[in-house]
Amino acid sequence: MDQIVEHTAGQDKSDITIKKSTCRMCHGGCGVNLHIQDEKIIKVEGDPDHPINKGALCPMGAASLEQIYNPKRLKYPMRRVGERGEGKWERISWDEAYDEMVSKIKETQSEYGEESIWVGTGTGRHHFAYVSRFANAIGTPNWCEPGTAQCFRPRVHGSVLTMGQLPICTYTNEELPDLIMFWGHNPIYSSPDGEMGFGVKEALVRKPKTIVIDPRETMLAKRADIWLQLRPGTDDALALAMLNVIIEEDLHDKEFVEKWCHGFEELAERVKQYTPEWAEPITWCKADQIREAARLYATVKPSMLEWGVGIEHTPACFQTVRALLCLPSITGNIDQPGGWAFGMLAIPPFPQLFDTMSEEKQRKRLGYDQFKVLSGELAQLPSAHIPTLFEAIRTSKP
Ligand code: SF4
Repeated sequence: MDQIVEHTAGQDKSDITIKKSTCRMCHGGCGVNLHIQDEKIIKVEGDPDHPINKGALCPMGAASLEQIYNPKRLKYPMRRVGERGEGKWERISWDEAYDEMVSKIKETQSEYGEESIWVGTGTGRHHFAYVSRFANAIGTPNWCEPGTAQCFRPRVHGSVLTMGQLPICTYTNEELPDLIMFWGHNPIYSSPDGEMGFGVKEALVRKPKTIVIDPRETMLAKRADIWLQLRPGTDDALALAMLNVIIEEDLHDKEFVEKWCHGFEELAERVKQYTPEWAEPITWCKADQIREAARLYATVKPSMLEWGVGIEHTPACFQTVRALLCLPSITGNIDQPGGWAFGMLAIPPFPQLFDTMSEEKQRKRLGYDQFKVLSGELAQLPSAHIPTLFEAIRTSKP
């Protein structure tokens, strides 16, 4: 923020123009008004007309100028001139950088094969589709992004395989939830993807019922109607026990289930064995408390399941996601105002060139045979399995 003060102090404000833009300091997309003078952004503020953030900005968004104008920000290609770790670099032209990279890629591929190049990227922000496109374009199936395996993507893949697409929490409807169940998620502090934090805060002002499932006593847990302090990593057992209570006590939404759910009878049969008494020693949550939570969740509508990456960081996360998806499904809290919405398909896919790769080449993706949903034939966003990549680096196999 010092930098903003520096830019604006003592300056004539008459030639400042304000342009609308979108913050991308996180996955979100909050509306911002940029104050521009002499082709430089001198101030960023939340756009009050934007339906998601309604004028608010989180600390990261408010600090975006510090990133844009940070003197240490990497803006040009740099070549290392000293020893590795010495921190000595020289600026080179884009042409030099491209030529050098192209020749190194070609050299490696002709010696070891196209798939020997591993293209990795950090968290899957707006640029990740370009990175996977680049990998596909140079002919390597070994592209990866950590989130595809252990942060968010298992939820996407699990949802797509279970109900066709990823449901999302939306607070832009007229109707807000009367109950919010926070599961492995603390959006008040983490505010992932922007709109969630702002929307949740707005919804909480109306004092909906809340259930918090979190090993930690967060601020949300302190004010919850029910806080289930489950043993970390046992979310699947808790979800199964809640399904057991809802179905055994006939609290599910029969009309919704009849119209929209497949396999309800099989689910009912399957979860019969997973009573709250069965779950208690596994989850460390009292059976009575599990019953109470299941009853409250099933009987207050509309409700929102706010789930977070706490779920993906558990050992059986994929099947946990699938069990959790059953809760809003059998209680009819999907595609209802105040409940989960479908909308991700409205975002057109970016051409990542996966279809240009032969099946033979796809099979060379590390993890293809073993991790079918992540890397193989069932993958929605095929990417290499990172531990297998590390193993390949260590052993040179394959
Ligand atoms: S929540 Fe995300 S998009 Fe919104 S202001 Fe913060 S960083 Fe920017």
